[in-house]
Amino acid sequence: MEHSDHREGLIVGNCHCKAVAIEIPFNGSFLNLRKCDCSFCSKRWAVVASVPIEKLKVIKGEDNLTLYQWNTKVAKHYFCSICGIYTHHQRRSNPNEYGVNIACFPNVDVRNYIDVPYVDGQNHPRDN
Ligand SMILES: [Zn+2]
Repeated sequence: MEHSDHREGLIVGNCHCKAVAIEIPFNGSFLNLRKCDCSFCSKRWAVVASVPIEKLKVIKGEDNLTLYQWNTKVAKHYFCSICGIYTHHQRRSNPNEYGVNIACFPNVDVRNYIDVPYVDGQNHPRDN
């Protein structure tokens, strides 16, 4: 028997108020973890994993997502309009990828991700 809400290799994450739910592939670990030190991400202060655009699904509450864009307006940063939590963003460095807020997923202890490396967002490759 298959349970449609618990498919193998997928994980569901939520914003804080649970109005928004996203689903990504997951096989035991998040891929390509990073932080960014650009003016925006350093205020947001999130550890993000990488997911190919076509692999992330907003499975609940798409209408509750707010889009924030700044500077070149290439990256698309999505937040829950109710609780303010950042869920994911379409990357400027690679528009075929989403960065995903790993803290939205169950059983993530943020203390385990203190040593995740920073990418140099202050000297963004697309600014050269
Ligand atoms: Zn929310």
